[in-house]
Amino acid sequence: MVVRGLTISAHGGLDEVQFRDDLPEPALQAPTDVRVRVQAVALNHLDLFVLAGLPGVTIVPPWVVAADAVGVVDEVGSAAVGVRVGDTVVVNPGISDRTCRYCREGDHPLCIHFGILGEHQPGTAAEYVVVPAFNVRSIPATTPVEQAAAFGLVTITAWRMLVTRARLQAGERVLIWGIGGGVATAALQICKLVGAEVWVTSSSDEKLERARALGADHVLNHRTADVARELRAATGKAGVDVVVDNVGAATWKQSMGALGRRGRLVTCGGTSGPIVETDVRRLFWNQISILGSTMGNDTEFDAIVGHLREGRLLPPVDRVYPIEQGREAYARLERGEQFGKIVLRVGQADGQAVGQSDSRAVGP
Ligand SMILES: [Zn+2]
Repeated sequence: MVVRGLTISAHGGLDEVQFRDDLPEPALQAPTDVRVRVQAVALNHLDLFVLAGLPGVTIVPPWVVAADAVGVVDEVGSAAVGVRVGDTVVVNPGISDRTCRYCREGDHPLCIHFGILGEHQPGTAAEYVVVPAFNVRSIPATTPVEQAAAFGLVTITAWRMLVTRARLQAGERVLIWGIGGGVATAALQICKLVGAEVWVTSSSDEKLERARALGADHVLNHRTADVARELRAATGKAGVDVVVDNVGAATWKQSMGALGRRGRLVTCGGTSGPIVETDVRRLFWNQISILGSTMGNDTEFDAIVGHLREGRLLPPVDRVYPIEQGREAYARLERGEQFGKIVLRVGQADGQAVGQSDSRAVGP
């Protein structure tokens, strides 16, 4: 049997993104694997990096793209536990070997063989994907398909950043750069779940309005506002407790300036450039912590899926495309027009909550 999927066959521009209907049907690789009949997948900024090419990452054409997925389990390996054929599942895209020191300590994203679906291993944007059973969790079949597809990567990333790394507490103040992006938007939802007071920034007033609807307490257009100065003024010079900065070079100085005493700057990327400048005087005098974070472990995945099951963390969906139009979905992501996640429909929905791509949906 052949299957349909979205692939790249070389690094480059959008022309390399190709829908195909002649891909081999994937089979279980290990007794701990499960196979998922995919209903929908979501794109992440990572997919643009993979398309352009990343140092040390080799793709084997035709390379199936994408990290996130929701679907129904159709085959379970003899040693796979916790999941049954017919379960609707969401996928944690971070793959670890389960044997190294960090895995044994439950710190899976630090695995010495860590990889992400679509980057280090074939991705999810096909009719079937094979993943370790450790990487799936069952969810109610009534969960909106597109929001479940959009959930995994950004939510686990933002959860580890805020809850595990920054140890965010109720009542603390948080600054989130670039609202509308997947991690930033998930971070906003998690902040509101925890009970924090949140400032968000964007260069788009329209995105700022959308963020207010998702619970942002304060909004700043970073094209016109001096973010650090305005934050200090608004907080009686105290500054914020936590900054979520995935922008890097362009925002780092402002992030440091916005932080108050005991502040925590947490980052999972640097989309504007990786090299930043830090004034150590601010760092030691205010006893600031700079925290790196990547993806999440099993405990964090369980925590976020618990919130998904209860409908408390449902990512906003920007737009839904059929997988055949995957290239157009990539183009929208590349233009940065989206607020929330861009989703691709792969298969039929088995009578599930089809078409519930309500982009206004909120968590708490
Ligand atoms: Zn490991």
